[in-house]
Amino acid sequence: MAIQTTNPATGDVVKTFDPHDADEVERRIQMTHDAFLKLKSTDFAIRRDWMNQAAALMEDEIEDVAALLTLEMGKTLEQARAEIAKSATTMRFYADRAEEYLTGSALEEPDAVGAKKAYTRYQPLGVVLAVMPWNYPIWQVVRFAAPALMAGNTVLLKHASNVPQAALYLDTLFHRGGFPEGAFRSLLIPASRVEAVVRDERVAAVTLTGSEPAGRSIASIAGFEVKHSVLELGGSDPFIVMPSADLDAAVATAVESRTINNGQACINAKRFIVHADIHDEFLKRFGRSMSALRMGDPTQATTDLGPLATASGREDIHELVSDARTQGAQIHVGGEVPEGGGWYYPATVVSGVTPEMRLYAEEAFGPVATVFKADDAKDALRIANDTTFGLSSAVWTQDEQDVEFFTSGLDVGAVFVNGMSVSYPELPFGGVKDSGIGRELSAEGIREFCNLKSVWQA
Ligand code: NAP
Repeated sequence: MAIQTTNPATGDVVKTFDPHDADEVERRIQMTHDAFLKLKSTDFAIRRDWMNQAAALMEDEIEDVAALLTLEMGKTLEQARAEIAKSATTMRFYADRAEEYLTGSALEEPDAVGAKKAYTRYQPLGVVLAVMPWNYPIWQVVRFAAPALMAGNTVLLKHASNVPQAALYLDTLFHRGGFPEGAFRSLLIPASRVEAVVRDERVAAVTLTGSEPAGRSIASIAGFEVKHSVLELGGSDPFIVMPSADLDAAVATAVESRTINNGQACINAKRFIVHADIHDEFLKRFGRSMSALRMGDPTQATTDLGPLATASGREDIHELVSDARTQGAQIHVGGEVPEGGGWYYPATVVSGVTPEMRLYAEEAFGPVATVFKADDAKDALRIANDTTFGLSSAVWTQDEQDVEFFTSGLDVGAVFVNGMSVSYPELPFGGVKDSGIGRELSAEGIREFCNLKSVWQA
């Protein structure tokens, strides 16, 4: 895939970049390696200052960076600003918390292991390669890089080929904040050249956020090289609505959760599983609200839904809808590729989806909602868990028995009760099953790329 900025609202190529050649990649790997040797002996206080300074720079530059995100991947300007603000908040969060999270613990009874003292300490691993997607070009990188840098690791970023300007912005941000040159470097390379970087002996570990095939490929190479990997992959999150739910709030949140980021988030609600008693009413109101969304130019404040990020992304989602339609599913809203330029796809609501249809099993990475009718709580849980994914979920109910039933029974990394799935720096984030391995954010996220060393002293 060419490394270039293409405006999804028009389909026009804006800027093309030459990939880094082998010498430049070698230079950047060596720089991050050399920077690690410096960074690992700095203390938390200095790294905190640098991280806070980088956060302040990003806040100052929010309008320019937001415009860049909208240009490169089509999210609305308002959502682009929110992404940048959240990224800066998370940088400050880790600046403040890293030391606390990385303070090891001492055995209360060292005699039990025949020692005078026995304790643990967290130490950085080294250069970590991050392979990242385009859907949140700043946030996906920052949520990994802020804790990694605060722990004393250095970062090599291979960003998605359609967001090179976001990659280049991040390339200098942390150094401008004060981190040593080389603490964070971007590699402008295609996916086909990632393997060699994973295998490089100066690279200690790898994290990938993206699709399942990419994750499997990277993790198998890292496994062969005996390197730690974290995978944040796809999701097909269930959104369960039970009869006791506040239906107005559930419908409003369902619409937002399906369409935020133009429907291209791993934790968008994708499958709406509604109890039979309220199914028809939910479907009616949900369909009405989805069809009322204003699709159009993402730079305009009145726009709810911008274009999809890539032409192939739009083809993929339309194929899923067309396959379901051909096999007898009902399309209540949307489902047609609009006339005109840009890669727009309307908010779409589909019901009657059966396991033979691709839409049942595959991730719908665009604003397409699938609505299922469940006989009871047990049936809702069965449908929710009948997927290879296990990222996040939402349950709408006022009944505490339902809360216990679903929070214990759902095979997922997170459950939001009467709310929308979102990520918070305070909470662990990640999936089970084919949605990934490991956790980002919280104390767990910063510890992923650390060596937990045991010390025994006689
Ligand atoms: P993708 O095609 O897997 O791309 C993600 C990154 O991996 C890009 O940098 C891509 O580079 C690179 N890549 C692709 N194939 C590779 C390979 N074989 N070896 C090495 N690198 C490879 O994913 P996407 O379509 O951009 O992103 C959408 C997917 O990401 C969805 O499934 C979504 O759910 C998932 N996602 C998950 C999370 C999470 O936290 N769980 C968050 C966001 C997105 P190129 O661009 O050069 O191909």
